Amino acid sequence: MTTPPAMQALHRWLERLSLPDLLDTRGHSQDFSGSRAGYINTRIRPLALVLALLIPAWIPVDYAFMPIGEFTLMALLRVACTAVLLGLFFWCGREQLTLPQARLRLGLLITIPLLLYGAARLLLNGDVAPGLILGYSFFPVLTVAMLTVFPLTLREALGYLLPVLLVYTLLEIAVGRTLDLQSLGGLWLLVLVALVAAWSVAGQLLMLLRLYRQATRDPLTGLFNRRALTEQIERERARFLRTGRPLTVLLFDLDRFKRINDHHGHLVGDRVLQVFANVVQQNLRTTDHFGRWGGEEFLAALPETTSEQARVVAERVRQACENERLTLAEGPSLGFTTSIGVATLHRDETLDSLFNRVDEALYNAKAYGRNRVVEAEVPASA
Ligand code: GH3
Ligand code: MG
Ligand code: MG
Repeated sequence: MTTPPAMQALHRWLERLSLPDLLDTRGHSQDFSGSRAGYINTRIRPLALVLALLIPAWIPVDYAFMPIGEFTLMALLRVACTAVLLGLFFWCGREQLTLPQARLRLGLLITIPLLLYGAARLLLNGDVAPGLILGYSFFPVLTVAMLTVFPLTLREALGYLLPVLLVYTLLEIAVGRTLDLQSLGGLWLLVLVALVAAWSVAGQLLMLLRLYRQATRDPLTGLFNRRALTEQIERERARFLRTGRPLTVLLFDLDRFKRINDHHGHLVGDRVLQVFANVVQQNLRTTDHFGRWGGEEFLAALPETTSEQARVVAERVRQACENERLTLAEGPSLGFTTSIGVATLHRDETLDSLFNRVDEALYNAKAYGRNRVVEAEVPASA
């Protein structure tokens, strides 16, 4: 039975929307989440600085129009909020963040205008200039509007937006304005701006995710490309230098691959590359980094793995490739093999040196007859 065109169009539309990617982070790679955390962080900083400058700037206006008791409380609160924002500004400048850390800081950033609003709403009920409370009434909208510059999942966005709506409503109840037209109008405006904010954050997330995938993935195998993989290995090298836990790389090169292309055509060659990528992935841990190094060469970086342990993994992959068969449209099934170089990073060694050594090991594996695992020589400096 064929699917009706309307259903197909709906399906294509839902696919284009990438709904699961927009809802939460389950389909995001660890690497993308790290990048997004950095992105969120770089946007928290300027916002924190702008708020830190603007919040105390209103103190003279409060002084002119507020009774002294309320003014003193609000001024103290404004100074405290400024201090927290400045703290946030410097705190966000220092290190590479994880996603939970970035979320926490964003939470802190939006809590501050909300806190000021709450205090003003409770203090300024009744006997102060109505213009003044109007000035404060923009704070919840400002809080929601600030979120629009961040690439967030819908679940994260809800986590920030719902508390803002809830705080607004609870404050209206607390000051006895629940069914007041002005109060409902304020809530209505807030909900509308929240919907626009949710649309904006999800749109930014989707754009970032698409660009990120295009820039870091190899389209044929879906694996990381050389640039993304190199970045991951640089981070692993930094971790190795910090913790001393071993880092070992495996370099794979398919044997006599040109022959496969020549005998069976480029498309079959492409299928072999995809199957090979799958076979290797099934033999690696989720914490290992694996990608296409170029052409029919692939590289895996295995954190916390000694050269002996890595040799076992390499041998398992070599064997699995030997056992794998591709069924072809015509003729008998097709097999393939791989040669593998193994090298463990040494202290004081650069990544270039590590890549050279593993390349030499692979070259030797080819020279000794292919379909084998060869370990690299230790570096001259060791
Ligand atoms: P060796 O055992 O010495 O590695 O021999 P080889 O034939 O594998 O080595 P060589 O480097 O001479 O050939 C690599 C071939 O891989 C040549 C190139 O056309 C092919 N190749 C590179 N990228 C792709 C690709 O994306 N798809 C296909 N089908 N072939 C590719
Ligand atoms: Mg090659
Ligand atoms: Mg080859």
